[in-house]
Amino acid sequence: MATDTHPLSLPPDLIRLGAAPAGKEAAIREAAQLLIAAGCIDPAYADSMIRRESVANTFLGHGVAIPHGMVDDRNLVRRNGIAILQVPDGVVWNDGQTARLVVAIAAQSDAHIAILRRLTRLMQDEARLNALFTTTDPADLAAALSDETAAPATPASEAGDLAESFEWVVDYPTGLHARPAATWVETARAASGRVRVRHGDEAVDGKTLVALLQLGLRPGDRITVSADGPDARAVLNRLRATITGLSAREKADAAAAARKAKAVVQGWTPPAAAGREMPVVAGIGASPGLAIGPVHVMPKADLTVPDRPAPLLEGGNRLHEALNLTRQQLKALADDTARRLGPAEAGIFAAQAELLNDTDLITLACQLMVEGHGPGWSWNEAVERSAAKLAANPNPVLAGRAADLRDVGRRVLTRIDPDLRGGSIRDLPDTPCILVADDLSPSDTAALDMGRVIGLATAQGGPTSHTAILARTLGLPAMVAGGGALTELANGTTAILDGQSGRLYLDPPDTALAAALGWIEEQRVKKAHQEERRGLPARTRDGHTVEIGANVNRPDQVPVALSQGAEGVGLMRTEFLFLERGDAPSEEEQYQTYRAMLEALDGRPLIVRALDIGGDKQVPHLQLPHEENPFLGVRGARLLLRHPELLEPQVRALYRAAKGAKPGALLIMFPMITTLREIEALRAVCDRIRTELDAPAVPLGIMVEVPAAAIQADVLARHVDFFSIGTNDLTQYALAVDRQHPELAAEADSLHPSVLRLIRMTVEGAEKHGRWVGVCGGIAGDPFGAALLAGLGVRELSMTPRDIPGVKDRLRDSDLAGLQALAQRALDCESSDEVRALEGDVS
Ligand code: PEP
Ligand code: MG
Repeated sequence: MATDTHPLSLPPDLIRLGAAPAGKEAAIREAAQLLIAAGCIDPAYADSMIRRESVANTFLGHGVAIPHGMVDDRNLVRRNGIAILQVPDGVVWNDGQTARLVVAIAAQSDAHIAILRRLTRLMQDEARLNALFTTTDPADLAAALSDETAAPATPASEAGDLAESFEWVVDYPTGLHARPAATWVETARAASGRVRVRHGDEAVDGKTLVALLQLGLRPGDRITVSADGPDARAVLNRLRATITGLSAREKADAAAAARKAKAVVQGWTPPAAAGREMPVVAGIGASPGLAIGPVHVMPKADLTVPDRPAPLLEGGNRLHEALNLTRQQLKALADDTARRLGPAEAGIFAAQAELLNDTDLITLACQLMVEGHGPGWSWNEAVERSAAKLAANPNPVLAGRAADLRDVGRRVLTRIDPDLRGGSIRDLPDTPCILVADDLSPSDTAALDMGRVIGLATAQGGPTSHTAILARTLGLPAMVAGGGALTELANGTTAILDGQSGRLYLDPPDTALAAALGWIEEQRVKKAHQEERRGLPARTRDGHTVEIGANVNRPDQVPVALSQGAEGVGLMRTEFLFLERGDAPSEEEQYQTYRAMLEALDGRPLIVRALDIGGDKQVPHLQLPHEENPFLGVRGARLLLRHPELLEPQVRALYRAAKGAKPGALLIMFPMITTLREIEALRAVCDRIRTELDAPAVPLGIMVEVPAAAIQADVLARHVDFFSIGTNDLTQYALAVDRQHPELAAEADSLHPSVLRLIRMTVEGAEKHGRWVGVCGGIAGDPFGAALLAGLGVRELSMTPRDIPGVKDRLRDSDLAGLQALAQRALDCESSDEVRALEGDVS
């Protein structure tokens, strides 16, 4: 039988308006008749469609049903097609389910995904869908459901360009990877017509992330971006601006990565003779360092997802809910990662979240559900099919996205079916090993038992994959993209893993082992020396001490911070108590968390920042009104004062915690303060609650993040006990640069002289009233920035724990007078570049 690969189309003879079938079976037969008459199906296929109803529910929801035959009867489909039966008065499909549009599908392959996708979209546009139930013009139905508007994945070889177009040569050094692609998709999605991206004779839907990634664009590839629809020109202008605008950032990121790679500890070179003897598996270095030990090859993760069919509606709801919850979880993870590791690393989670918006993926899952499979199974299958396509990409950066897709897919899966939770890393040997795996999910990597795994080598993955980033954060030597040969290794083979060059040396001779051991020992001594120093205070050579705190949000993170040399917590961002879950924590839950933080700190200071919600920290479950410009809207203190139901339980929980704490150990700080009135109002609430609870006084401070607060610091200082400067926001507001803007990120430089002058004003204002000033924004963790801040008179610096040793070293090697002179020179500079050029002058 000839295979018809034509997409589904909807000529007028396949549409019947105003039908009034006696029941569901009659409706299916009437629709099937249209398909038979058009030569799409064998008459026997109608029976197959009826049979299907007894094993699966084809009611999609919102008055739409999609009857189709059994998978085994696809041979009865002569050519792809759909028929529509409009039933204005509805026909009962199942108890409580009435169909008004019966969309009968005849498809040999996955061609009907396009129609499913279109239907899914239509279901979100209730007004348009309702109009289709009663329209008297078949053209309305054809337009709503035709291939043209359904924008199916365009078969590569058939695709031409759309009405308007421009050409561009890829100049991103790592090609088109997920982060910039996600931004392209975001821009393209605003278009009312179609957007297509073509490379050679391959063309894909520009609104679909996975499709774009599958193009595997590399630097130097020439592409044509085209669009149609009424706003095609404007859309292309915006897209061109987005695409070219990202070039600078991509180049800067690549240069920074290269600098970082150079800056890391020197790589290892095996002794020449041994180097020639040893078999070596070459991959890509993902996390520097050497590991020596037996390899342990992890059996391929064979997650068996049971197929537990559920009613279609219920399955759809479970998938929908799981997707939403996962998006929220990723948003929280991205926010937290941005603060801990930086915006580039956080971008991975934003891209992962974008993968979840992929209509192809979701539609495929829906289609599988419609075929009668369970939601978990369908979702897993859809993810696996997409990931397999990505993994086949020859560009390792893009192939690395397969692991991300599988990982994010797993997150959704465990939300659909919590029984499937549980790591895949089991049965590790008791002695330390180099773990070899086909691929690892970021979640697996995060859960590694560091006592038993000394290095990681994966056959797949890429250096920018989240797994690689986590390995770097964990300080675990790692290589990726080693190829299939890796997983063929015999368990127990001795190997040297060099995570810098991305090489796994096998069966090394004694000379190589001795050289590698010597190198590891050298590094250990260096590290031990640093560790020794990180426990020392940040005291300059001439005896001036700067307090060093950690930015930490959870009690379980405190021990790590202390081991890095933190002397307390200078910023606990409490909005993460809200962001990481689907509802607001109660007063009691908050109290327990603050108490646990105080206990973990054992008398060291804890500065808790009251909720800073709004701006970049949106909490979806609070369902706050949408704002056009949230950074200038009801954010931080403004929001707290308008929502006593958020402010008061938090303040109560804090004063309750203060009652059991060492005097002075707990400090409260309010975010985004602009005016004195806000301070007075917040203080009044604190005083009232403190009196009610008969709690001790707690130092009350404010974040200085708004230029107005810095400028009026001499006035505000009289009313508070301390200031902590949030340089991330202060920079954003002083320089009018959105801190999350992908193109402008490099311009949001906290070392800009105007920001430094605001910091100076804050310190001077505070000194007038004998108050101290800290800094808890990102610049506090940069050794040069810390040196400048100390020179400007900042007394306390709070940062990501891993930045502490470097900052302490820098300050301990300086003199206060030298730092002050440096700060003065920086204040006199004309640009941030000039300020940065002073680096190296710290004395
Ligand atoms: C800041 O703005 O510098 C700050 C520390 O607060 P956040 O990053 O949480 O807004
Ligand atoms: Mg801030």
